[in-house]
Amino acid sequence: RAHNICLNSRNLWWHYLFYGILTLEKFSRIVVGCWRLLDWQKSTEELQRYISDAVDLGLTSFDHADIYGDYQCEAAFGQALTPVLREKVQLITKCGIGLVSSARPAHRIKHYNLSKSHIVSSVEQSLTNLRTDRIDLLMLHRPDPLMDADEVADAFESLRKSGKVLEFGVSNFSSREFELLNDRFPLSTNQLEISVVQPDALFSGIMELMQQLRVAPMAWSPLAGGRLFANDNERLQSVHDTLTSLSATYSATVSSIALAWLIKHPARIYPVVGSGKTDRLREYVRAMDIQLSRQDWFAILRASRGVDVA
Ligand code: NAP
Repeated sequence: RAHNICLNSRNLWWHYLFYGILTLEKFSRIVVGCWRLLDWQKSTEELQRYISDAVDLGLTSFDHADIYGDYQCEAAFGQALTPVLREKVQLITKCGIGLVSSARPAHRIKHYNLSKSHIVSSVEQSLTNLRTDRIDLLMLHRPDPLMDADEVADAFESLRKSGKVLEFGVSNFSSREFELLNDRFPLSTNQLEISVVQPDALFSGIMELMQQLRVAPMAWSPLAGGRLFANDNERLQSVHDTLTSLSATYSATVSSIALAWLIKHPARIYPVVGSGKTDRLREYVRAMDIQLSRQDWFAILRASRGVDVA
């Protein structure tokens, strides 16, 4: 079975080589993150309006995880998702982290679990919560030191065959971790923390691997979870000042420019934004039209790292 999966993976390689970047093509370039969904304190009707407004703005992909909101976010979203809306959106979710929670009384300690039985049962629960028959993209939330790549590939293959999950990816995986699993089963993405405040992933080698494999990465907390606007230390202040100084040049807000900075990267980064406010989503969409000049891109990098490039 593992051998067959390898062959499938090789076929996909040829596909990548001939047709260029294929992954994430059906997802919106800016993804709406639902981690903070319960903080938004929306009624089901308000959440339905928010989803519908996002879709109207072209933000059709929604990022979840089983654990968000202490295992409650998916179900709140599912309640607001009408059958008509379901056909217009792409649902992303993750599994693999076990939280100590009253929702999971068997958990005595925070842990990871990428066993086949956990992956499959987590998907079943996500399908129920989200009130859908398919997950568009399933990610392993974090690398697990006990991950058996063959077992994960087997789980993915059975979920793919049953049509319950259409695409598979990972999150927070290093280059080696990504290569290991991608060798067994073709992965569509790696969701990483990347922003104007946290650019380390651009220098760890992972972005080169993503480009090499033509796998588009996603960037979580692309506005540093709101810290970009807190101005509570000198570095953050400097990044914010640099973005502000570019606002007039590009007739755009600080947020739009921060997202445009990610979008300019040749690995084809998909930012996963986390605001519950439709007006902010409207700002974010503007980022896709901004063509940052090379020197402005480096000015933001310098502000972020505190030094010029060598
Ligand atoms: P973010 O977009 O970087 O930050 C969102 C936060 O910034 C919200 O609290 C938002 O508040 C605030 N904000 C945005 N614009 C602002 C402004 N102009 N002034 C003040 N505050 C502002 O994203 P995030 O929520 O941290 O993460 C996004 C998504 O990434 C999550 O929902 C989740 O799906 C995913 N994620 C994945 C991982 C992983 O390990 N894979 C980890 C973390 C997150 P308002 O709501 O008031 O706009």
